[in-house]
Amino acid sequence: MITASPKSIVIAGGGAIGLACAVVLARAGYGVVLADPADRGGNASAVAAGMLAPAFESVLDPASKGLFTLLRAGREAWLDLLPQEDGSPTGLSQPGALWVPTPSGLRAEVMAETFAAMGAQSEILTPIAAHAMSPGLDPKGEDCLFTKEDWCLDVTVVTEWLYREALGLGVEVIPASITAFSPGRASLSDGRHLAADHLVIAAGLGRGMAPLAPELACLSPIKGQILFFEGAGPMQGPAIRSPAGYVVARASGAMVGATMEFGLEDLTPDAVVGERLRAAGANLFPTLARAMVQHRVGIRAATPDGLPLVGPSLFSGVTLACGARRNGWLLAPLIAKIVTAQLSNAPVGPWAAQMDPRRFERAAPPPPH
Ligand SMILES: Cc1cc2nc3c(=O)[nH]c(=O)nc-3n(C[C@H](O)[C@H](O)[C@H](O)COP(=O)(O)OP(=O)(O)OC[C@H]3O[C@@H](n4cnc5c(N)ncnc54)[C@H](O)[C@@H]3O)c2cc1C
Repeated sequence: MITASPKSIVIAGGGAIGLACAVVLARAGYGVVLADPADRGGNASAVAAGMLAPAFESVLDPASKGLFTLLRAGREAWLDLLPQEDGSPTGLSQPGALWVPTPSGLRAEVMAETFAAMGAQSEILTPIAAHAMSPGLDPKGEDCLFTKEDWCLDVTVVTEWLYREALGLGVEVIPASITAFSPGRASLSDGRHLAADHLVIAAGLGRGMAPLAPELACLSPIKGQILFFEGAGPMQGPAIRSPAGYVVARASGAMVGATMEFGLEDLTPDAVVGERLRAAGANLFPTLARAMVQHRVGIRAATPDGLPLVGPSLFSGVTLACGARRNGWLLAPLIAKIVTAQLSNAPVGPWAAQMDPRRFERAAPPPPH
């Protein structure tokens, strides 16, 4: 039996959300154990593009329409989580994002009206100004729309930092999955048991965890394929959004994505999809047409309304922190704050009600007793 601390919490899952919860809970004084059987690269968080994009997500993702203020609160929560180095937070950049329309796509002027209606900052740029902002970009003679609202994380850098911070705060990391829980005791896949007052489920789709929280039954998978051009494409500058996909600049090379394949949860890269994504990237940055590429796949977990499950389960001692769909990185620190406030009986803030797992109660099977 692993030793208990007075307020001990076990977190199932070491992706973006589990790690953010581990850090925020440990900072609040909880004794935290983080259990995850996967390698650091083995989850959706590791393949993500790392956009913190409240503005463009609210416009381009049908499930996120009307959520600009909530998503912007998620973006802001990163400033509390990350340390400042040389005046800027580790792994986070604030380069903005640029809409590059196609002739048949939404014009920059129309996009600007949508931004204004939701209270988001934006400005129209000529093609020359857009090219100057993102060298190598071919805006095809179209006016573009720039916003400062959307930021970016380097998910590799930030994941490493979150692990180091968690370990430094005394979080114990165990390479096993959680197989059972009742208040006071969690069981691990390596046969050990762990004394824990509370379980936080941050296990993404959480396949196999349904007996631990009936609310997980509402989650469905969305497969996402994305290309990483190591050492090629834009390495700094705004994220480029276009009707055919996005190009995210990273110091190690550009990322082009991503598919939204509803109901699929296999991790097989599809070569035809890869070529389509490459063509979309090369249409914006012609040098990507022949650059070396890594094709990556991740599975997002989604609820019926697109917002995550954050808060108490029907099952005693269990809290949910999962189902963040395509905005898990954006929302991770906000989710961690809400989870920590709930467990501490502190005010949960204005966004918790929208993410309450009980909003799907009628769809979930009743608890066993
Ligand atoms: C291609 C792609 C691009 C994306 N781009 C962005 C983006 O730009 N911005 C953004 O905000 N989001 C993006 N996302 C979405 C984002 O990646 C996810 O929402 C986020 O990673 C979810 O994090 P998570 O911690 O919930 O889950 P995961 O990262 O999936 O982590 C869950 C972890 O739980 C572990 N686990 C499972 N079962 C158990 C168990 N029983 N016990 C213990 N551990 C368990 C798994 O091993 C896994 O490591 C993207 C996703 C994809 C696929």
